[in-house]
Amino acid sequence: MLEKVEIGTKRLADYEPIVGAEVIEQIRTLAEPLRGARVVHVNATAFGGGVAEMLYTLTPLMRDVGLDAEWQVIAGEDEFFNVTKACHNGLQGMDIPFTDDMQAIWRRYNEMNATRFEGAYDFAIIHDPQPAGMLHYHGRGGGKHWIWRCHIDTSHPNPNYWDFFAPYISEYEAGVFTMAQYVGPGVDFEHLALITPTIDPLSPKNMPMPEADAREVLARFGIAVDRPLITQVSRFDPWKDPLGVIDAYTIVKEQIPEVQLALVGSMASDDPEGWYYLDKTIRHAGEDMDIHILHNFHGVGGREVGAFQTISDVVIQKSTREGFGLVVTEPLWKGRPVVGGNVGGIPLQIIDGKTGFLVDSVTECAEKTLYLVQHPEEADRMGQAGREHVRQNFLTTHHLMDYLSLFHELV
Ligand code: UDP
Repeated sequence: MLEKVEIGTKRLADYEPIVGAEVIEQIRTLAEPLRGARVVHVNATAFGGGVAEMLYTLTPLMRDVGLDAEWQVIAGEDEFFNVTKACHNGLQGMDIPFTDDMQAIWRRYNEMNATRFEGAYDFAIIHDPQPAGMLHYHGRGGGKHWIWRCHIDTSHPNPNYWDFFAPYISEYEAGVFTMAQYVGPGVDFEHLALITPTIDPLSPKNMPMPEADAREVLARFGIAVDRPLITQVSRFDPWKDPLGVIDAYTIVKEQIPEVQLALVGSMASDDPEGWYYLDKTIRHAGEDMDIHILHNFHGVGGREVGAFQTISDVVIQKSTREGFGLVVTEPLWKGRPVVGGNVGGIPLQIIDGKTGFLVDSVTECAEKTLYLVQHPEEADRMGQAGREHVRQNFLTTHHLMDYLSLFHELV
């Protein structure tokens, strides 16, 4: 059997004060005819990264509205996750080799995990490239409707990777992508759904935190809370461009010597490259003690991430490629403006000049960050606009509604 992830319980009713009674009612109406439907989410890791983050909320909420939903993760060793990390990079367009050995490893682990997939489901939702071979190797038995949920941007893939993956993903009845342009070349799904990721406003990370508490948390990590702080929260990954963030901060520091930078990143279990890139980031930071590089092994969990996002003067997300960027949604929800790379799902969230700024270079990133640090009232105003934007579009209740609508379309 695949490993089942322990999920807590969540109640849809608890979201009513945040999203309003009408939204809750719409969800219940959609859910009623689907009562008892068996749903399984399958992905590669129960910890680290946006997918795991969302499944901890989405799965229990599906249960609360009457679906029989669960979440399972595939098994793999480092050799597999090294290959899947390359697949992630290759599918997002990186020019790297995809050797026969790598392909064989991917196939071997997918075959092995497929034999462990048990049970009978109305909807089997397979997330991302790591387990994309599940349907092929398992066969249709055990799932009435097979859905592949792609969280990455495969609009300009490296053809070596795309040609390998396209036949596997084409077997699915439905494809779910964050944006229409993310669907790579030549793949036609019978059903294509566009669903953006969302955040849970009631998770420890996103629940309102009194400023005094947030300051106390940051002080524990050596941040001087009476001085300006800019933060990027991200895995240590080339696409998140932590080195570019350091360069932008260095420019800001020439104007505001007391500014500090926090780079906060979790080390995901399916991301062996993270350690290498963390070292690289630390070297790039050099001896500047105002750069704080922190991760979960320092004790930075959800609540601590939330504290950084609550208190920072400006949050940066200088990605050069991004699926959606929950790390943009989260600070906007806390009323902080975000300066973000003009890529992927970031422009859906940052309305340039309204909820933050979209940037294309280190200098532009530095300029806009400096502006916001120097204009705190404007920063607050943008943050509030961001919070409203997230409330309307990117909360977990929206996500649940999108999936229920897709299920209706399939039955
Ligand atoms: N995250 C975290 N701790 C960290 C770094 C990231 O909890 O130190 C969370 C972050 O808050 C967000 C998720 O991991 O919820 C990252 O999702 P995103 O979509 O931004 O990027 P991904 O890692 O999936 O590419």
